[in-house]
This record gives sequence, C-alpha cells and structure tokens, in this order.
Amino acid sequence: PDRPDNIPVGDFVLDPAYGRANPKTSNPPYVCGITGKSYSVNEVAARVNYAARAIKRVLNVNDINKGGQQTGFSEWEKVVGIFSVNCIDYLTLCFAVQRINGIASPANAAYAASEFAHQLKDSKARAIFTCAPLLDAALEAAQIADIPRGNVFLLPVPDAITTPEMRRKAREFKDFNDLVEEGKKLGELEALQWEAGFSRKKVAVVSYSSGTSGLPKGVRISHFNMITNILQIYLHCTTFRDFSKPSNVLALLPQSHIYALVVVNQAEPYAGNSAVILPKFELDLFLSCIQRFKLDFLFLVPPLIIVMAKNKSIVDKYDISSVRYIMTGAAPLTEEISKEIAHLYPGISVVQGYGMTESSTVVSYTVGIDIWHGSSGCIVPGTKCRIVNAEGKDTGEGQPGELIVNGDNIVLGYLNNKKADDETFITDGGERWLRTGDEAIVKRSPAGNQHLFIVDRLKELIKTSGFQVAPAELEGHLLNHAKVADCAVIPVPHEKVGETPKAYVVLKAGVDASEQTKLEIMQWVADHKSKHKRLGGGVEFIDIIPKSPSGKILRRLLRDKERDRRRAQ
Ligand code: AMP
Repeated sequence: PDRPDNIPVGDFVLDPAYGRANPKTSNPPYVCGITGKSYSVNEVAARVNYAARAIKRVLNVNDINKGGQQTGFSEWEKVVGIFSVNCIDYLTLCFAVQRINGIASPANAAYAASEFAHQLKDSKARAIFTCAPLLDAALEAAQIADIPRGNVFLLPVPDAITTPEMRRKAREFKDFNDLVEEGKKLGELEALQWEAGFSRKKVAVVSYSSGTSGLPKGVRISHFNMITNILQIYLHCTTFRDFSKPSNVLALLPQSHIYALVVVNQAEPYAGNSAVILPKFELDLFLSCIQRFKLDFLFLVPPLIIVMAKNKSIVDKYDISSVRYIMTGAAPLTEEISKEIAHLYPGISVVQGYGMTESSTVVSYTVGIDIWHGSSGCIVPGTKCRIVNAEGKDTGEGQPGELIVNGDNIVLGYLNNKKADDETFITDGGERWLRTGDEAIVKRSPAGNQHLFIVDRLKELIKTSGFQVAPAELEGHLLNHAKVADCAVIPVPHEKVGETPKAYVVLKAGVDASEQTKLEIMQWVADHKSKHKRLGGGVEFIDIIPKSPSGKILRRLLRDKERDRRRAQ
C-alpha cells in the first residue's frame, strides 16, 4: 500500500484514514497497566494538539513552519529531551513536539545525570520532560546542559511508583496535564506545510545508539522511516494475527528504546490495539496486569523470558490464558529458552524480531505460522537483506557473514558525524545499505521460508538486558581513573542479563595489582554510569592491551581468549 510521505508519524498512527486506530472501533491507544487510566483515540489526538500549542510557547516559536526566535527555520531549535519511565502520555508528548515541526529525543530512564546531560547537549535540547521518580537526576542534567528550570516539565506517573517526598518536590513543576489545559486557552495551531516527500527527510526522533563502533551517537530517524516500519510490521503480522478484533498488548519495555517506541507504542495502536503500559518490571505486577487486561501479546526481551521460564510456579497463580504470543527482540534468545517456554506454556508461541535503532527497528520477524526456535524470523516486506563477507561479496544461503540491510526504514544517518555515516551507511549497486555489524546466516525452513539467524556480533556493542553498552564509552571513563594506564572492555556472557561488560586493565607503574584496586575500578564505573553499564564481568589486569598497528583495540582477541577460557572450565 501507499505510504503517505507528507504527514507526521502521529497522524499515521492515530488517524483512521491510515490504520485501524478508530474512535468507534479500536481500543484506546494507551492504557496505564497500574491504574487502568486510558485515553481514547480522540482524546490522544486532542491532547497532542493542545500540548503542541503550549510547547510552541515554551520554545518561543513564532511560526511552526518557520522555526524559533533564534536563527530562522531549524528543526534543531525544537528538540525536546524526554527522560521518563513508561507512561500513557509518552507518545502523546512525542507527537505534540512533532506537531510543531520539533524533534523528540528520548533518553534511557536508567541513565545517570551526566549521561542524560550529554544527550541534551549533543541534541541541543531546549526543554525536558521527566517524571517525579527521575526529577533529581533530570535537574542535575538540566543544569549541566544549561536548560532553565522553567523548561523542565513532568509526565504524570501513577502514585504507586512515587514517594510522598518525590510528589512534594514535583509540585514546583508543571506537568503534561497543565500544558494540555494551557493549550486549550491558546490559539489554534497553524497547519503543517509539508509538501509531498517532506516526511522522508524530516527528523521525528533523535535516539542514541553507538552503532557498530565508538560512542553513543544521535540517530536521525525520519517520520517516513517510522511510518514505513509501522506498516512493514503490520503487514508482516497480518499473516498470523487477527487485527479485525482489537486486543491489548503489554507495553513494559522502555518507551525510550526504538523497539518499544515503534513496535509496541506505534505499530500496535496503528493496528487498533491498546498498549497497556507498565513503568517497571515486578513479576507479580506483570502477571496481574496480564490477567486484568487479558493481554494477548507480550513484548519482552530475553532476560524477562528467562524469568518466566524459571518461575512457572508463580506464573501459575495467575490466569494468563489470554496470552497467545510472546515476542522477543533486542538481544539474542537461545534456542533452549525458546523451546523451554514452548514446553512450559503450550498455549503460547514465542516469536522473535531482529532490528536496530538504525533500521527504525524491525528488519525480520517470525511469521507466527512458521516458528523455528532460535531463528529471528523472516525479512519484513519492503526490506532487502544481504549477507556479505569481509570483502563485501555475498556469501550465499547457509554461509555466515555480515548482515547488511536496505529499505525505507533505514534511518537518515547520525547527527553531525560524517565519519560514522560513511562507515555505517554504504552505497553498493546504486543502493544505500546499513551495515548492521551482526553476523548472520540465512536458512530455509521446511515450509520454504528464508529465516534469518543472528549468530554473532562483529561490532563492539555489548547488550545487557537489551540495553546498549558501548565499550568505547566505558574505556574512555576508565582512562580517567588515576590508576588506569590503558584498558579494553568486552562483553562476557551472563546468565540473567545476557551479557555484561568486563574490563581488561593495564595499571599505571607502581600501582598495586590487588583485589582492592579491582573493586575501586568497578566502583568508579558504578558511581558515574547507569546500572546496566556496571562491570558485572569484573576487572582483569593485563600487561598490554592488544592493538592493531594503527592503534585500534583488538577486542576480538580478548573475546576469543575469554571464550576459550570459559569453554575449558
Ligand atoms: P539497538 O539499536 O539498541 O536496538 O541494538 C541493536 C542490536 O541489538 C543489533 O544490531 C543486534 O546486535 C542486537 N539484536 C537486536 N535484536 C536481536 C535479536 N533478535 N537477536 C540477536 N541480537 C539482536
């Protein structure tokens, strides 16, 4: 079907002209899994509009089609940083920012203040939306990034996840509902003047990802990138899901991450379903939410699926008979766990998706009628994949190589980083390809479908509970420690979170290579970085970090060494 290329993604999701979201026939797009509060399609659309008027005023925008009062037309004058746990207004806020030609920049709610501040500065954000539990860190980040206190706002979250002290501090700040009320009193917004094709180049979201190497970078994701991926997911799923009856799905994964943002919070409402939102994972809350809202589709990441596999006796206390599918993505799920879930919960099928921030999420997705444990599914319509060797030549079916991807879901590029753009987005045969940095194999199922298997990661990235950890970021931080002369960070397997970082450290001359020094170094990371970046794999002292003649760290050698050692154990 035709994809409109002159509208914002929010219109595509909410307007019955494009999808199944419909004031009369669909479920409310966003429902709070704790309080049950929800907004209907019409209410979400109205709140987008009112909040947009108020945000326009906050950012001093005269004419939304011209830009702010600073330098004339620039979408980069209208960047809003979002630092919040999941809530029912998260997407409404994104759509409101985009309604004034602005850009939403969602940050991981697990970030430390300094990490969020980096994102704010890098994206040139001018306002922040946070939530009561994260307010202290958000204010610290706002100060570092020079964002006035008056430009800090709150997203309402259920009282159950706040303390009286948090609520007291929060009173000083306006929240999203206040802005909606203010917006009602402000004048109508001018229409967006988007010519045909404009949404192909217009940035909707700037997310942060380290890609195949280096530090986290802003990823410029256009409206059309997301519209494309929503439609790809929807069309792919029509092969095994019945969208004629709206259902409720679990929206527990962090809305700041592309998987939840596009697959759960946009593609599901587009299909007429409710995203039932939970701000945190607790087994009983998760299970009672499934029971209460009769969820039929659970979007999870491997560590949460492992929890379900290991706690069958607790799960059995709840009625989860409504669940038809569990989708896993963001990190590898072993074939064993996939089979274990199928065995423990015979009524539930585990489907897998593969994708990355740079592909606006989904590249491949299990076709529910052709389940192959361990496979990341089949390529979604409208996307092309190739598996290439180190020389860039196609390897052929059944042969491993780097996966490269082409399609309208491949993002515009990084933010102010031509070097990373040149390395990641390559042109071959007149087409633009994303280098994924993942090693994959294509195999054919008995049903005749080509399945994608992700077999290894060639890039530097570490994935902990589905979150990115960039080795270069931790190495840069470790080098600032007084006792560290050189270092390299690699992933090591972890039973619960999949992978965790481990640091190889060369100590400065005269420093005691003791357990105490190791603890100090681990603490140095724990004190300044998010929890998922902690050195769960510990610290190992080494005489020299292996490097190429050009000085590039040969992490691969350390990974192989680690692997051999673990195999020998
Ligand atoms: P992100 O941009 O945070 O979504 O990270 C993308 C990376 O996560 C991919 O390049 C893969 O390395 C990894 N990943 C995502 N989905 C899967 C999957 N189904 N199986 C294995 N790895 C995955």
